[in-house]
Amino acid sequence: MKPVAFRYHAPDTVQAAVGLLEEAGFEGKVLAGGQSLVPMMNFRLARPGILVDIRKVRGLSGVRFESGYIVVGALTTHEDIFLHEELAHRLPVMRAAAALIGHWGIRVRGTIGGSVAHADPAAEWPAVMMALSASALVSGPAGEREVSMEELVAGPLTTTLEPADVVTALKIPAPTAGERTGIYEVARRPGDFALVGAVAKTKGDSVRLTWFGLGTVPQARESDSFGSLSEKAQAEQLSRWGEELEAESDLHASATWRKRVAAVVARRALSAAASDDAGLEAGERSGLHV
Ligand SMILES: Cc1cc2nc3c(=O)[nH]c(=O)nc-3n(C[C@H](O)[C@H](O)[C@H](O)COP(=O)(O)OP(=O)(O)OC[C@H]3O[C@@H](n4cnc5c(N)ncnc54)[C@H](O)[C@@H]3O)c2cc1C
Repeated sequence: MKPVAFRYHAPDTVQAAVGLLEEAGFEGKVLAGGQSLVPMMNFRLARPGILVDIRKVRGLSGVRFESGYIVVGALTTHEDIFLHEELAHRLPVMRAAAALIGHWGIRVRGTIGGSVAHADPAAEWPAVMMALSASALVSGPAGEREVSMEELVAGPLTTTLEPADVVTALKIPAPTAGERTGIYEVARRPGDFALVGAVAKTKGDSVRLTWFGLGTVPQARESDSFGSLSEKAQAEQLSRWGEELEAESDLHASATWRKRVAAVVARRALSAAASDDAGLEAGERSGLHV
């Protein structure tokens, strides 16, 4: 199918993009990599009358290392993130997560800002950003603001962004000494969205786990003493968390299955956090990275 007719703008500043979106109101949509929006338009699940393509806006892609923060431009593609050596060195989970997204053709076009704004419950970036306590830098008609991931993601494919808001970057607190992060997911085939996945962040005995692909939004649980528990007590804790998380059933898996697998992916995400590559190799070994 083809999309319904729409008008197309390609401004080169954020201010111009916000202005065009403000004029367009609920008719308008930002276009970034187009890897989620264009298929939805082709299926007529999205029918924007006005598209504001932000790919010509300068300064929205690339990674900056600032004092205490890592700032990833909204237009930075999944593949740019995968290939960024310094980012992989400082925060290996970024490379491991990028490797799990779709196929190469999707990774070279799809953007981190688009993924976060799209808020697919099975997407890696919203969960990774939440796990890293990142926030989105957002420009709108009233100026710029910073929105935490918890505030941003409101439901499946739903955010608290207003129609004229543009996500300009993701601001990630730089990891502190001893902090480790890893990711693991289960998917039906390489390149598919995760059926269930988890991001683990650990420091000393404390653990924070953020699951995706399970319920309608990423969900987190944490414990300050997890690392001091026996292996059996850790396994019991992971199963308890799996049980209490909200899970959805769909064509691919039941909520019961997802809850059970939540404990398994959490355990593997913890192993990924303990490894130097944050789970990249484990993802590749399981055939998820193509
Ligand atoms: C076959 C296939 C497999 C895929 N597999 C995965 C996967 O395994 N994991 C995964 O996470 N994703 C997957 N994706 C989705 C892919 O990662 C998309 O790139 C991503 O979800 C959206 O990014 P985009 O830049 O393409 O955004 P677009 O498609 O351009 O936009 C998506 C939505 O976000 C809005 N938007 C985009 N950028 C901004 C911005 N800067 N500010 C405000 N709003 C904005 C748009 O208006 C639109 O509503 C897959 C896609 C396909 C087609």
